[in-house]
Amino acid sequence: MDRIVTPASRDNKSLWANSSSFSFKQNLQESYDIAIIGGGFSGLWSAFHLNKLDPSLKIAIFEAKSIGYGASGRNGGWASSEYPVYKETLKKRIGEGLTTQLLEALDQSIDEIGDFSKKHSEVGFVKSGSLYFARNRAQLSRLKSKADGGNLWISSSEVKERLNVTGALGGVLNPSCATVHPFNLVMALATYLESKGVSISENSWASPVSGGVLAKSSFIKAPVVIQATEAFGAPGRDFIPLYSLMVATEPLNESTWEEIGNSERFTFAENSHMVNYAQRTVDNRIAIGGRGATYPFASKLQESKESTAKVHETIRSLLRSWFPILRNVNFTHSWGGAVAITRDWEPFVQWDPKNGFGRLGGYAGDGVTMSNLAAKILAHEILDVKNELRNLHFVNRKIRKWEPEPIRYLGVNSLVKLSGIADTEERITGRASLLNRVIEPLILR
Ligand SMILES: Cc1cc2nc3c(=O)[nH]c(=O)nc-3n(C[C@H](O)[C@H](O)[C@H](O)COP(=O)(O)OP(=O)(O)OC[C@H]3O[C@@H](n4cnc5c(N)ncnc54)[C@H](O)[C@@H]3O)c2cc1C
Repeated sequence: MDRIVTPASRDNKSLWANSSSFSFKQNLQESYDIAIIGGGFSGLWSAFHLNKLDPSLKIAIFEAKSIGYGASGRNGGWASSEYPVYKETLKKRIGEGLTTQLLEALDQSIDEIGDFSKKHSEVGFVKSGSLYFARNRAQLSRLKSKADGGNLWISSSEVKERLNVTGALGGVLNPSCATVHPFNLVMALATYLESKGVSISENSWASPVSGGVLAKSSFIKAPVVIQATEAFGAPGRDFIPLYSLMVATEPLNESTWEEIGNSERFTFAENSHMVNYAQRTVDNRIAIGGRGATYPFASKLQESKESTAKVHETIRSLLRSWFPILRNVNFTHSWGGAVAITRDWEPFVQWDPKNGFGRLGGYAGDGVTMSNLAAKILAHEILDVKNELRNLHFVNRKIRKWEPEPIRYLGVNSLVKLSGIADTEERITGRASLLNRVIEPLILR
């Protein structure tokens, strides 16, 4: 918990962030029932669910920078039921029943985000699903295995009717995904919580100590402390930070959108090894992100990774290759942020009643919806309120450790490189890369 949060880097770079017009009252008191460290989705949804279960609770949120400074204010805005572990792997790990329960709970969380967003048009919540498309035979055969009861397989012409992607061979539609403006959702939540009496302190680096937190050089008493700092927390070997980077185009005109399609504003991605994700924004840009920045040695956050030029350029080229009409379009923003990944790619929700300490995170880049679910579970755990979600397999689990350094550094960065090489090979040959045999078991998804 001694991780240093580096200076704000999002200003003027991220498309979403606009911290200037908000200020939260900071009438800090000496004691609270619950102190929450971290003002992203995990911290805010924790306060939301605790307040819903017991409105009389005195809750304080401490944010080292400004609300939404972390991944929550700068992400791709996919509020999806996607879980970082493949459904088939999950079924083998936990069985069909729990897998179904988990996916339904995630879908319900999307709807809860939607319900909350009804009064906040600035969040731009639209639940019109996501579209994964394949652009070579290897991607196609992997994608076909994702089509099942919930995910609808569509042909290449059906993909093109929805989204005019060059070279699309087929796709999978997942109805269980919404698009949001992430920073506006963070701000709407924080403003709502303040109206409910939750105290929000920005520029307040906090650290848990026995019986409360140390914040702003003061001891604040709180029998319950929640650590909601995701990639910013001291990871030990519980998780690693990996960087996801994004770029955004200028607003695109009507005729360009007629050529591209997607009037429904579903989210979309190519089914490559390298994670990528895109959305049509409320103001008609395309915001697209991807991985590919290398893992920092010993999990030490490095702000420079957020602006890895090569990765930003790869993402821009990917978008231009999907839609050649964007050849001369300006890209106005580029930014990035860290996500936390556990060794088995599963999140954690932990509650230690003896010490009054809870923590949640490890969403592996799928945290917009998952943070709502994790926070709901944590709130029920803390207040010991019956809820079947408390039986989900990742609640209070023993976290599998990452390998020690330098094995971790060499292993993770080899995977990052191999994923890129496998994509290039599959693009050229159209056949599944032999590297898949190395990649798949190593990432254990
Ligand atoms: C570029 C990018 C794109 C992404 N796209 C998607 C997407 O499309 N869909 C999706 O589901 N997920 C996405 N994610 C992941 C998602 O954004 C995260 O999983 C989620 O926002 C994590 O929320 P959080 O509240 O746990 O952490 P964060 O949002 O990182 O919040 C943690 C907060 O804790 C604060 N903090 C740290 N230390 C302290 C301290 N000692 N005291 C006080 N405060 C502290 C930090 O300043 C930070 O604001 C993306 C992430 C990134 C970086």
